[in-house]
Amino acid sequence: MTIRTRFAPSPTGYLHVGGARTALFSWLFARKHGGTFVLRIEDTDLERSTAESVNAILEGMTWLGLEYDEGPFYQTHRFDRYKALIQQLLDEGKAYHCYCSKDELDAMREAQMARKEKPRYDGRCRHRQAPVAGVPPVVRFRNPDEGEVVIDDLVKGRIVVRNSELDDLIIARSDGSPTYNFTVVVDDLDMRITHVIRGDDHVNNTPRQINILKALGAELPKYAHVPMILGADGARLSKRHGAVSVMQYRDDGYLPEAVLNYLVRLGWSHGDQEIFSIDQMIESFDVPDINHSASTFNPDKLLWLNHHYLMHSDPVHVAHHLRWHLGRLSIDPTEGPDPVEVVKAQRERCKTLVEMAEASVFFYRDFQHYDEKAARKHLGEDAARGLRHLRDTLAALRPWVRESIHDVIAATAESLGLKMGGVAQPLRVAVSGTSVSPPIDWTLAILGQTKSIARIERAIDWIEKKD
Ligand code: GLU
Repeated sequence: MTIRTRFAPSPTGYLHVGGARTALFSWLFARKHGGTFVLRIEDTDLERSTAESVNAILEGMTWLGLEYDEGPFYQTHRFDRYKALIQQLLDEGKAYHCYCSKDELDAMREAQMARKEKPRYDGRCRHRQAPVAGVPPVVRFRNPDEGEVVIDDLVKGRIVVRNSELDDLIIARSDGSPTYNFTVVVDDLDMRITHVIRGDDHVNNTPRQINILKALGAELPKYAHVPMILGADGARLSKRHGAVSVMQYRDDGYLPEAVLNYLVRLGWSHGDQEIFSIDQMIESFDVPDINHSASTFNPDKLLWLNHHYLMHSDPVHVAHHLRWHLGRLSIDPTEGPDPVEVVKAQRERCKTLVEMAEASVFFYRDFQHYDEKAARKHLGEDAARGLRHLRDTLAALRPWVRESIHDVIAATAESLGLKMGGVAQPLRVAVSGTSVSPPIDWTLAILGQTKSIARIERAIDWIEKKD
């Protein structure tokens, strides 16, 4: 049997953390077993679905690298198929028209509540002989009365629901449009899904979906309902807890592999291993190891992982993402040092790509002002002497590499009888505008000789003109 999984988002917003985790689990399971991962857009709710949201979801999947083998399929393109199967169920007596008015249904519910019964449709139209003139009917699925539905959920274990607890679900509205639970079932059937991995907010739908699948003569998929994600306060993760959109993490300077690594560990574990490359995830992941209880979202851990990936990923790869962030700061990275070199110099001290980009602007663009505190401390009258000496010796330096730059700075300090910091800090403020940067010899090596000298000149001028 070929494993076939799917991710089936409703396009009513962005790709959020919970959805991305479900997608990742489904993708990993398919990849692990050499199976097929299907993307299905559940856009039947015409009022809430938007093209913008579809794009946001596709963009999120692409950014995370969760490539799908089939799809995206759109439910709105499949209405003829749903209608044909609704007709088939009607013809076979497995579904029926219901003409009950809203008033009738309200009265039914009130009477049941008065009797302290659970409100449910009592099936009165199952036996109605003639249509009611002028009333467009809905179609209800005739749920079995007897027996029970058994779900051997791969995460939650056995769940048993008696059919007497389920009522006859509406599968087509009075305008003929199919309802959510029906379209999911038809799609899972037609797309030959073998494993339905989804959030456990859908667990109550599953017995109904199973009964409809059986009525359509389908083989049942296996189900795995993944527990939800909570914020630190124990409430379901929502906007209140900060970023929940995957693309917000891109904008905030996270690498996709850090987000994936974070998501895979959110509700799944493999011993006490924390760091997983994509290949290791595929190798180690298994559905039965998904936690049985809800998981708590921890932004600090995600940040820690991001720093780990900034430090240990191929700088060429990190630079690809850094370029994007530099672009957001209106910097053209071709007009300055190779971002790969910038990554190598900056990554130790930056936890996000946003931090890295902001701390690297000075490599590409002249800064407007010196950081006030840094200038007060390091660009005083006495700094000018060292800077002049450096300007002269650095201007003549060949080759312009870290080691030779280091030697010049050390020799300058020695000849002026200063400590290394007494020369290096003014130099740092002169070239970067601030008192924080990568090691100063490295900073100058990346900035280049011409720009470095020009900025030293500028600082000397600034000190001279200050009073
Ligand atoms: N469209 C549903 C959702 O976004 C998922 C349905 C399913 O996975 O069966 O919550």
